[in-house]
Amino acid sequence: MANFYTDNDDIKFLFRHMDLGELAKICEENFKFSTEFDYAPAGADEAVQNYAMVLDSLGQLSADFIAPRAEDVDRQGNTLNEDGSVTYAKGISESLEKLARADVMGCTLPYRFGGLNFPNLVYSIAIEIVSRADASLMNIFGLQGIAETINAFASEEIKQQYLHDFAAGKVTGAMVLTEPDAGSDLQAVNLRAFHDDNGNWFLHGVKRFITNGCGEVLLVLARSEMDRTGGLGLSLFVCDRGPTVHIRRLEDKLGIHGSPTCEIFFDNTPCQLIGDRQRGLVTYVMSLMNGARIGIAAQSVGIAESAFRVARDYAASRKQFGVTIEKLPAVRDLLIDMKIAIEAGRALLYETSRIVDLEIGYAKRLANPPEDKAQAKQLKNLSRKYKRFAAMLTPMSKYYCSEMCNTVAYDSIQVLGGSGFMRDYACERHARDARITTIYEGTSQLQIVAAVRGVCSGTAEKYLTELTQLNYEPQLKDLLEKLAEGTEQLKKAVVFVKAQSNEYMDLYGRALVDIAIDLINGYLFCSQASSQVDMQVKAAGNGQMTDETISMKERKAMIARRYITKNALKIRSLTEIICSGDKSTFTDYPALISPVISET
Ligand SMILES: Cc1cc2nc3c(=O)[nH]c(=O)nc-3n(C[C@H](O)[C@H](O)[C@H](O)COP(=O)(O)OP(=O)(O)OC[C@H]3O[C@@H](n4cnc5c(N)ncnc54)[C@H](O)[C@@H]3O)c2cc1C
Repeated sequence: MANFYTDNDDIKFLFRHMDLGELAKICEENFKFSTEFDYAPAGADEAVQNYAMVLDSLGQLSADFIAPRAEDVDRQGNTLNEDGSVTYAKGISESLEKLARADVMGCTLPYRFGGLNFPNLVYSIAIEIVSRADASLMNIFGLQGIAETINAFASEEIKQQYLHDFAAGKVTGAMVLTEPDAGSDLQAVNLRAFHDDNGNWFLHGVKRFITNGCGEVLLVLARSEMDRTGGLGLSLFVCDRGPTVHIRRLEDKLGIHGSPTCEIFFDNTPCQLIGDRQRGLVTYVMSLMNGARIGIAAQSVGIAESAFRVARDYAASRKQFGVTIEKLPAVRDLLIDMKIAIEAGRALLYETSRIVDLEIGYAKRLANPPEDKAQAKQLKNLSRKYKRFAAMLTPMSKYYCSEMCNTVAYDSIQVLGGSGFMRDYACERHARDARITTIYEGTSQLQIVAAVRGVCSGTAEKYLTELTQLNYEPQLKDLLEKLAEGTEQLKKAVVFVKAQSNEYMDLYGRALVDIAIDLINGYLFCSQASSQVDMQVKAAGNGQMTDETISMKERKAMIARRYITKNALKIRSLTEIICSGDKSTFTDYPALISPVISET
């Protein structure tokens, strides 16, 4: 039977290559839960086996049940009924029911609420697998961060009220942040939160573009301090979708048709405050969005994987000029670039998820620090370090994977030629679904703004230094030298940019972040090519089906060589561009761009 986990050699390889046992130990807090919950693992091996088992059954469900429904879901979409309720596309309702029965709707929630207490890394793999089957379903499956936010910041009473139902898949949620005048700039949120004399809170106002706004549990960012502008006037609230929550419209969209995007009017809706007032945006939503950004990165890798497979299969059977098109150099190049880009995105995504797990794990340990002062200090340093790494890698992953996914989805259509433009093949749907990934949960431009801080503040340099200290095979020496050279170029570019203005940093932010990502991915590929894991995978052969196999390590060494060699040239040219001092974007704008058309 088809299985989107077991048929993916790269995921299986990374699952073994990355130290999931170490993450299990951290998430399971030294396996202390096994005394209280009989399904909690008592050791690392058992935990890792559990992860593999769940991914295996999710992989099968995705291939056998979810993917075959995706096309109908895309055509059918959701319906806003006259009574204001929303009906999901049939395939979405059916798949959600299956996912709930498979007990995967509370992947990262603690055992005490019925969750699986999985590391974020395993959750990212799960999201990738579901997204490969149906990107729009992921938008509901991947909203588990709402429950996580409640778990991290709400009172025990609120947790008890909602989290059992989330883990059981009885309710779904929505992240209700965006308003007509507050998109990228969430500090401008204006929906009003007010309380009566008894301290009961209510919400009043409009939100738009809300994924699954018809869900039962809504986390709403609102202005609780009317005398304060900006982020510090905002708090986070939770409310039920009761009679005062009106879905005014469903958006008519380019892609992800199975995911309802709602405009909501809150008409004095009763709600409860999450955590403390005024920390809504600066603490809680930032945390929520960081998790969601990794989710979108995983969604992007899943879409790209699916789009690649359509192209790969087509290229093996379509004949032109007497040969299958995969024999033509131009098509080969496209397919290889797509495949390497996906594996680069996956490497960055999984590494980011691992770092986030370490960040959370050390922060938890820090809540009860050891008495020994030296140990406590060491723990504090580790916690701080992973927090910084996560803050830089999260926007990098979201940016890289979503841009990669768009390129791969478009190239997939190109490989199919005219057929790719037709609805007969899934790649046109993948391209439409891919388009949103660089926009929601913060556009690529906003991810760059967040990531460039890490690049210019020395975090990228520190992280790259850590990567140099991993064990590498001797035959990768020349590649590691190229990466070291690239790191020097990055340092030079950072020094130059810091000597200019903030505006200059904004202008060349993308180039700086691109260099840093290329270097990080280069090291990650070299580390995979030096893996302890010895895994043989099937090779494509030369156009024919063959039994030929190749070791994954060897394959990864080839990928590393291609990726690093190509990017070394790109890094050099980007550095030159950054250090050119060219500010023509500012000076030439008025001359190059025509006036606003409505004013002429
Ligand atoms: C299908 C869909 C689902 C969504 N789901 C949700 C959801 O569940 N919950 C929710 O709250 N929101 C949701 N959104 C909203 C989404 O997060 C916003 O659309 C997104 O953050 C961008 O905001 P905006 O559309 O207002 O664009 P704007 O903020 O107006 O941006 C327009 C352009 O300006 C650029 N720009 C803006 N500021 C900067 C800057 N400082 N530096 C550089 N460039 C900048 C942007 O990159 C973009 O290119 C969804 C949107 C869509 C389309």
